[in-house]
Amino acid sequence: MYKRFCVNCGKETKDLVDGLCRECYIKTRKQEEKEIEIKVCYICGFIIFENKKYDSKNFYKKLEKKFGGKIIKIEENIVEIKKESDDILLIKIYYRKDLCKDCKRVLNKKSYNYVIQLRGDIKKIEEIIAILNKNGYLIKNIENLDNGVDLFLDLNKKGFKTLLKKIKNYTKNIKITKKVISYDKQSNRYKYKVFISVRL
Ligand SMILES: [Zn+2]
Ligand SMILES: [Zn+2]
Repeated sequence: MYKRFCVNCGKETKDLVDGLCRECYIKTRKQEEKEIEIKVCYICGFIIFENKKYDSKNFYKKLEKKFGGKIIKIEENIVEIKKESDDILLIKIYYRKDLCKDCKRVLNKKSYNYVIQLRGDIKKIEEIIAILNKNGYLIKNIENLDNGVDLFLDLNKKGFKTLLKKIKNYTKNIKITKKVISYDKQSNRYKYKVFISVRL
């Protein structure tokens, strides 16, 4: 392969835009910045943007269409678009995790018997939810709160024990409380709801 050089500064680079390296190209263009907010579904991972749902490929297509240009770089939470006017648009993407409508519909709110109240570091909270998803725990519902997230699950005792073990890898600050919610005459037993409050 032959070498490519920036016509302005002479730097050797693979990615030339109109004959210029990225740095020079950006210097010669007007730069605009925009911020957008999106939601990412906890369960299916789809992106919700302006009340519509996208997979990541279509989300980027939507951005190109909305802002009129071509994406030239995607880096963590920043997308760089070269607009039709040749100006550069930097889009900062802020996201929070939530449930999309479809996943919400599938989840049955009423049948859970365990409530896991995760509080504190949002990164760790997201990690725990990802681990539960990966290990086949069916999270029935997720409620976003200001200071954390409540997860609602149906579990048997064994499932509960292994789940507790996984959470204990993150913190020992766990409090478990049981609440009687009804009495089952057929089995002569109380039905409980278990609250696991976890500080991360
Ligand atoms: Zn250059
Ligand atoms: Zn979803």
